[in-house]
Amino acid sequence: MGKKREVDDRFKKFGTVSFASTTKVNDFVSHLDEGKVTGTRCKDCGAMFFPPRADCYKCLTSNMEWFDVSGTGKLVSYSKLEYAPVGFEGDLPYSIALLDYGEYKVFGRLANDLSSEEVEVGMTMKTVVNELPNGQKNYVFEKA
Ligand SMILES: [Zn+2]
Repeated sequence: MGKKREVDDRFKKFGTVSFASTTKVNDFVSHLDEGKVTGTRCKDCGAMFFPPRADCYKCLTSNMEWFDVSGTGKLVSYSKLEYAPVGFEGDLPYSIALLDYGEYKVFGRLANDLSSEEVEVGMTMKTVVNELPNGQKNYVFEKA
């Protein structure tokens, strides 16, 4: 790596920061390659974020560390998509879903091999890394 880049923290002057520096959260993709789904935790207040954030909006600090999304979560909600955003048409149909891990929530997709009869709100699920036919990685929710 080259010289350390100066952190542009002008956004801290705003109350709530919804700005995430992509360079700092690109490790998320490397972690997927290692078979891990990760979020970030604020070292100052302990708040956990998924998707990972480079800054804590509560403390306005960048004092963050990675954690593994492990164990199980509860399915809060899901929805089968018949229409997809541009770029995702080839994936249809698929279901987006939200898992509640207690301290944080994970938004993602249900595994494609789950039938709708198998899925119900409140069920226990886990987040796993999934390899796509083109070699890219994403993550999906499976029955725990
Ligand atoms: Zn914090």
